[in-house]
Amino acid sequence: MTRPVDVVVIGGGQAGLAAGYHLRRLGIEFVILDTQAAPGGAWQHTWDSLHLFSPAAYSSLPGRPMPPQPGQTYPDASHVADYLTDYEKRYHLPIQRNTRVGAVRRQGDRLLVEADTGTWAARAVISATGTWSRPFLPAVAGRDIFTGRQLHTVNYRSPTDFAGQRVVVVGAGNSGAQIAADLALAGEAEVTWVTQRPPRYLADDIDGRALFDAATAHRQALNAGRTDTGGVASLGDIVAIPPVRADRDAGLLTAQPMFTRLTATSARWDDGHEAGADAVIWCTGFRPALAHLAPLNLRTPRGHIPTDGTRAVDEPRLHLFGYGDWTGPASATLIGVGRPARDAARQITELLQ
Ligand code: FAD
Repeated sequence: MTRPVDVVVIGGGQAGLAAGYHLRRLGIEFVILDTQAAPGGAWQHTWDSLHLFSPAAYSSLPGRPMPPQPGQTYPDASHVADYLTDYEKRYHLPIQRNTRVGAVRRQGDRLLVEADTGTWAARAVISATGTWSRPFLPAVAGRDIFTGRQLHTVNYRSPTDFAGQRVVVVGAGNSGAQIAADLALAGEAEVTWVTQRPPRYLADDIDGRALFDAATAHRQALNAGRTDTGGVASLGDIVAIPPVRADRDAGLLTAQPMFTRLTATSARWDDGHEAGADAVIWCTGFRPALAHLAPLNLRTPRGHIPTDGTRAVDEPRLHLFGYGDWTGPASATLIGVGRPARDAARQITELLQ
């Protein structure tokens, strides 16, 4: 049976909830479809010690401020998941869980949203599926012959899983620095941190607040045709949250250049030196989870879906956000996703009239 509905939101993480908030405010009929069994999107699956890089007051979705977490300036992931759980209850957001959308197709004046639990015929669709389900692993020589464990950021939980082991952590971003710091601080594993270019720390007094301001200024400058400010990337890559700062200052976080290849039991550099490894943790980023949009044929040969703001240029009934600056400044952050969600909901209202 195909169910008619005005809007389907695909994904029930923070981006999907922000969409729901604005759709509800504008009186639009919608449903949110989400693969997860529980609320919280990706925040349910991060490692145990992960803390936000902004205080609670700078990590709120529209409408409801995130309460501070007692005893923590920077809330942890479980606090964020609790906040999102409370958020969807407070606004009575209609979320259908355990539902994976496999395809979105055009059918006349509707977009058919095909999921494993049914099909919806929508007048507009918001794709808010995030990136967590699409970890990216670089093509590095020897990856297929390494006999130790290989994990991605998404699989890392706690240093206790690596007690007594030699671990190579790859990646110069926040995940790489934080996971290397987590392992080094616990002192149970022998950690080698490798980065393609030397780590670029943000100044110690800069956190997510400044990143959001920089992303916004960057977008405004581009929109106004002014000189590119360089945005967030110009500030650095790694937010020096307290554990990272402590490890760095104690000399526990010293990065080596990227190795050239993996052997069966080690990482090997050009000059022939090696680090024996029982595990490699790839903190090498993510790609947008967009496979369900493939039937719409919107990707350019470079794999990108062109958008005007959040709206797909070649399919005006489709909006995308939460994937990064590409679909709105800081749209992949808690504080930044509200604005693209509001803009998308407004444009959908106009479309539905
Ligand atoms: P997600 O939380 O991933 O939610 C997407 C939802 O869609 C999931 O529930 C998923 O299961 C579902 N889904 C996916 N595909 C389908 C499908 N086909 N059908 C149905 N449902 C589907 N941001 C901050 O603001 N502050 C921070 O300090 C911060 N720290 C971060 C640290 C790390 C390590 C990472 C990776 C990110 C961090 N972020 C931070 C960024 C950002 O806030 C998160 O990535 C956030 O989870 C993105 O929210 P989202 O709703 O776009 O995606």
